[in-house]
Amino acid sequence: MNDLLKILEDYAAKHQVPIIAKDSAVVLEATVAAKRPAAVLEIGTAIGYSTLLIAASAAFGTKITTIEIDEARAKLARSFFEQAGLAPYIELLVGDAAQILPQLTGNFDLVFIDAAKGQYLDYLSKILGKLSPGAVIIADNVLFRGLVAVDDLPPKRYRTLVKRLRAYLEFVTSDPRFETKIHDIGDGIAVTYYRGENNY
Ligand code: SAH
Ligand code: MG
Repeated sequence: MNDLLKILEDYAAKHQVPIIAKDSAVVLEATVAAKRPAAVLEIGTAIGYSTLLIAASAAFGTKITTIEIDEARAKLARSFFEQAGLAPYIELLVGDAAQILPQLTGNFDLVFIDAAKGQYLDYLSKILGKLSPGAVIIADNVLFRGLVAVDDLPPKRYRTLVKRLRAYLEFVTSDPRFETKIHDIGDGIAVTYYRGENNY
């Protein structure tokens, strides 16, 4: 597995695929290991790097559903899942997560959000009814290049994105159904515990 992960890291560096930062990967792995989820949802597969990290940190045979909009990346991810011998446990859905999420059934114990940065709150609203009580939601890139947790007005091209990431963080830190810790490492990673609808 380590050799394969190295191959993915090299590929990502060479082709500018934005895989999870090393520091954030540590948080992702530790959170998965502590949670021991039976069912995982990942939004934003890219080439499957974080998917493999999750699979390696979870119990063997943990079911992972992962969504990617880019067909070329999805194809590559699928071949890496096969090489890792994990293809039977990973369901890769190709398409827009906004469209796919409403169609998913089943409860998820752990969700990793790492797709379109402006859509995190929309993703969360679409999966809220599909979380098991005590589920963990991990969101990557929430401090986006240091532009989110500051008062300065971000550059124009990032304004909407930053506003939306702030709205996501505002929601998961203020709604009593959630308990959130934001780690200022990598590009910022938020770990949110969902207490359940009537459990607070
Ligand atoms: N989780 C990966 C990196 C994901 S990069 C890792 O750490 O290894 C973000 C990915 O989200 C990109 O591959 C991009 O194509 C995908 N993406 C962007 N918008 C999306 C959408 N609306 N639905 C599904 N995937 C999307
Ligand atoms: Mg990311």
